[in-house]
Amino acid sequence: MKTYDIIVIGAGRGSNLARNAGKAGKKVAIIEKSKFGGTCPNRGCVPSKLLIGYAQVARGVKDSSRHFIDATINSIDVKKIFEDTNSYIQTIDPAYRSRFNENVDTYTGTASFVSNYVVQVNGEQITAPKIVIATGTRPINAPHEKAWTSDDIFPLLGEIPKSITIVGSGFIACELANFFDAVGIETKLLVRSQSLLKNEDEDISAIFKKEFTQHVDVVFDTSIKQIEHKDNTFYLTLENKSGTVTSHASEALLYATGRMANTDTLNLENTDIQTNEREFIVRDEHFETAVPGIYVVGDASGEHMLQHAAAAEVNHVQKALLTGKKEILKFKYMPHAVFTHPEIASVGLTEQDAKAKGIEYVGITKGWNASAKAQSMRLKYPRTKFLINPKTYEILGCHLIGPQSATMMHQVLSIMHIDNDIRHLKEMLYIHPALSEALLPAAVKAVGAMK
Ligand SMILES: Cc1cc2nc3c(=O)[nH]c(=O)nc-3n(C[C@H](O)[C@H](O)[C@H](O)COP(=O)(O)OP(=O)(O)OC[C@H]3O[C@@H](n4cnc5c(N)ncnc54)[C@H](O)[C@@H]3O)c2cc1C
Repeated sequence: MKTYDIIVIGAGRGSNLARNAGKAGKKVAIIEKSKFGGTCPNRGCVPSKLLIGYAQVARGVKDSSRHFIDATINSIDVKKIFEDTNSYIQTIDPAYRSRFNENVDTYTGTASFVSNYVVQVNGEQITAPKIVIATGTRPINAPHEKAWTSDDIFPLLGEIPKSITIVGSGFIACELANFFDAVGIETKLLVRSQSLLKNEDEDISAIFKKEFTQHVDVVFDTSIKQIEHKDNTFYLTLENKSGTVTSHASEALLYATGRMANTDTLNLENTDIQTNEREFIVRDEHFETAVPGIYVVGDASGEHMLQHAAAAEVNHVQKALLTGKKEILKFKYMPHAVFTHPEIASVGLTEQDAKAKGIEYVGITKGWNASAKAQSMRLKYPRTKFLINPKTYEILGCHLIGPQSATMMHQVLSIMHIDNDIRHLKEMLYIHPALSEALLPAAVKAVGAMK
């Protein structure tokens, strides 16, 4: 049996660890069942944001009348958009495979455990004293064989549909619905409840819902009762909460109803590795599983499900494996963004979280229009919301909705990263009248509210 220093299962963010361990002279095996690079560049963050770029340009033209500009779109070449996005995706797997040196053996196949330290791939058994599980997640299956999940549009093969029905209410559903709608594909988003982006701060998701539904056709409180597919069209029977039944037809049907762990592929029952009730792998504060030397990082733990979290965890475990120093990595905060229209960025507690946990806070919201650059966008809805610890000036939560929210959030993150005192945001110099300056009145209001 071939013996390695480290086996990495899953070549998403895990591939960085394999590459660097190989460079450091370790004998490494990395196993990937699908494409090297994993979800983010192949079928996640990157291609979805490439699409959002097109959507933003289209929205800009569609919304130009508020700038007293009468513009219309002549045509959008959605086929070209997907060709371009697909051709980016094609580069990823070979690019990732080429990053490893001679110390790294790459295996293409599904890895499963034979026992705690023995892994099987393509019928071959290999072993290592250190194993890193970085197997991520996959979309929950669509209930019809012809229906799509996000994996089926990155890359999108075949004809571009003229119409699409999307099921879901989270960030993937909203980002994709915004894209398809913006580029002129007849789009309907079906939501089982009354909420969109329900994990966001309630004030922010309320604004989001109001703005988003002005562009995208969203049907709330509705689910699909029956699906029929014929002549390249889905014929859907919909039922709303009061029992009213309607029908709807579209060429494509996409489910974005959540993601599930890939642990079912790993034969963990042959090991002492534990999973939780959602089938995600349980780990300690060192990201180590119940088996010493076996780690789990990224989405496979079910904790953050964000690329930047996965990347930071992989770096951390890499450091522990290459230096032998075991330290604890506790994220002080975990920001995220929703790149749709409107854009949202968020970090820390939402107001509903703070209330539920009985955490004392001072909460304020402030519009952006004190900034001339914000005014120039001629939008009324952009807002900053801060939740502050009333005793320490610590930022407990910050939530932004408006153009470039994710970019704007980084000035808040810098403060949080250093000593997390909102007074810095009040006292620092801003470039007048940059969009970032829109945070100044919110910081002034928050500090004022403390007194
Ligand atoms: C549409 C979409 C948009 C997203 N947008 C964002 C965003 O804007 N910002 C953000 O932070 N995050 C975003 N994410 C989430 C982000 O992509 C993930 O958090 C990140 O990719 C997780 O990295 P990972 O390495 O943990 O898992 P992955 O990248 O999923 O890698 C796991 C790899 O393991 C492989 N694997 C699984 N089981 C086995 C097995 N048994 N044997 C061998 N190989 C196996 C898989 O094929 C996969 O390649 C998005 C996700 C999606 C789907």
